[in-house]
Amino acid sequence: MDNKIWLSSPHMGGTEMKYIQDAFDENWIAPLGPNVNGLEKDLEMYLGKDVHVAALSSGTAALHLALILLDIKPGDFVICQSLTFSASANPIIYVGAVPIFVDSEKDTWNLCPNAVEDAIKFGISKGKKPKAIITVSLYGMPHKVDEIAEISARYEIPIIEDSAEALGSTYKNQKCGTFGDLSVISFNGNKIITTSGGGALVVKNQEFKNKAVFLSTQAKDDAPHYEHTNIGYNYRMSNICAGIGRGQMEVLELRVQQRRQNHLFYKELLKDDPRFILHTEPNSDYFSNHWLNLIYIEPGQDYNRETIRQKFLVNNIETRPIWKPMHLQPIFKGSYYFGADLAEKLFQNGLCLPSGSNMTENDFYRISSTYKELDYLR
Ligand SMILES: *Cc1c(COP(=O)(O)O)cnc(C)c1O
Repeated sequence: MDNKIWLSSPHMGGTEMKYIQDAFDENWIAPLGPNVNGLEKDLEMYLGKDVHVAALSSGTAALHLALILLDIKPGDFVICQSLTFSASANPIIYVGAVPIFVDSEKDTWNLCPNAVEDAIKFGISKGKKPKAIITVSLYGMPHKVDEIAEISARYEIPIIEDSAEALGSTYKNQKCGTFGDLSVISFNGNKIITTSGGGALVVKNQEFKNKAVFLSTQAKDDAPHYEHTNIGYNYRMSNICAGIGRGQMEVLELRVQQRRQNHLFYKELLKDDPRFILHTEPNSDYFSNHWLNLIYIEPGQDYNRETIRQKFLVNNIETRPIWKPMHLQPIFKGSYYFGADLAEKLFQNGLCLPSGSNMTENDFYRISSTYKELDYLR
């Protein structure tokens, strides 16, 4: 049997061990140290735009702290893209707030501005203007940045930008991860670069950064004993993980190029095939890192995303249905939802294809061959 071709697997650059060795040599085996500070600096340089970065234990932790920093309280409404990974939405529940899920729009498959506005008006009609809008740049595709920013400004509702999948993507030449009042990046093992597990919160001022670091290190007040006036969290990134991150930052641009090359491979493969629509940037304002490549399978054919998934699986190639929308998840049953049924259709008919930056010529060959075998499904 051939090796498994994964959707997205870790891809080391080669210098990660040097930073880890430094940590061992200096005995910084702790959730603080030179690699943590170094990774934050690397990210600040990379993102530009006068941002401040707090390195944390996960993207989920960063989302949780973002909601806490915005002082979101039990019972508050928070708007969230429905078509996403559950970690975008779960932190809303951690703080006791109430999610209002919103559909996607067809260009980016991210937040639909009209549905966002409907959701805001609904909140206002209930006497509770939503306290935040969680936008996602799904699979690396930037969301409708200008449209959502305009709504955010008009209603004075802050944006939490979930760019967990979008490090390296840009919109109008500005980097994803700088569009929110607070933005979130993930370094989980499957993301474009990884620290094994980890994440970062990107904020616009030093005060928010200090507060994020304070809360993520157990909220210890300034006293010789342990004094607490806040509930704290153990969310800081380990100096070992940050060492991996420092090595990975050196190859981030290369990884973006490699993933974009994968996209060109799929574009070529599927170019004359009306059965599949490859998800692509709507225009030149959008530059996706193409973390994952996605196809929409036109319904009403002799096969569907499940038969196709099985076909790839037989050849030891991993594919996966697009995220199941949050408003259709059992755990969020009965939640508020605004929009139509695009997110649901994308889930029903959409498939993620292998997109790792470490795919080989032989992997591409196996994917093409399996694709050609699909004709027999008819
Ligand atoms: C991965 C991911 C997260 C969570 O990040 P972790 O670092 O795994 O906690 C949040 N949102 C989206 C869209 C993700 O893909």
